[in-house]
Amino acid sequence: TKFLSIDNVSKVYDNAVTAVDDISLSVNKGEIFALLGSSGCGKSTLLRMLAGFETPTKGRISLAGKDITAMPPYERPINMMFQSYALFPHMTVWDNIAFGLRRDGMPAKQIAELVEQNLRLVQLEKYAQRKPHQLSGGQQQRVALARSLAKRPQLLLLDEPLGALDKKLREQTQLELANIIHQVGVTCVMVTHDQEEAMTMASRIAIMSEGRFLQVGTPEEIYESP
Ligand code: ADP
Ligand code: ADP
Repeated sequence: TKFLSIDNVSKVYDNAVTAVDDISLSVNKGEIFALLGSSGCGKSTLLRMLAGFETPTKGRISLAGKDITAMPPYERPINMMFQSYALFPHMTVWDNIAFGLRRDGMPAKQIAELVEQNLRLVQLEKYAQRKPHQLSGGQQQRVALARSLAKRPQLLLLDEPLGALDKKLREQTQLELANIIHQVGVTCVMVTHDQEEAMTMASRIAIMSEGRFLQVGTPEEIYESP
């Protein structure tokens, strides 16, 4: 069950900033794992190394037994979900979900099947022909999730997934997203500075500070510790 393995990974930027400092972690299959910490602690750098947008200065990352440390982003069976405003505003919900599949040159019939399947998954079948601005913030977030799950990546990365939503909508959407993710069974690593969000969505949490993990545990373990 050691699905994602991060072994002694560091990232030192050109300006000599050590953003990630000798971190090791394994994430189980189907787990939602949260990297929690304040701004500048290195969580985005770690996420970008998983996505392949940054290369570790040192260490090794493997996914499903395969070394992906130096694999280019487009070859990784990994997708990143950004906040809902990353939807294409001029495209319908349908076309937003189909976008990546079309870009891959998938046959139209197969695209249609996958789009329909993902619309059902996020319960937006009735909204297929709307534009993002005709949806609520939570619905937009579900479109963003459907789009990033369309190809069924082995690993889904979530960067501050609900940062664009107001507080009230956020709590409801946290549970909705976690349910959909568990239903699909995709393994997730999310980055957040919101403790509530990590506690609600994640099965385990790493608290980060200055490029290191201060603590790793379940929400209960983290909450109960002094
Ligand atoms: P977080 O996501 O927790 O806010 P980051 O990973 O973005 O943290 O940043 C960690 C540290 O690395 C910070 O000190 C930040 O200024 C620095 N940093 C981030 N990106 C770069 C970069 N491209 N070049 C140089 N330093 C960077
Ligand atoms: P393309 O957009 O690549 O031209 P087609 O027109 O060949 O796709 O349609 C292929 C299938 O996908 C059809 O079953 C069609 O009904 C469905 N489809 C394509 N675009 C949409 C859309 N915007 N909304 C709903 N169904 C669509």
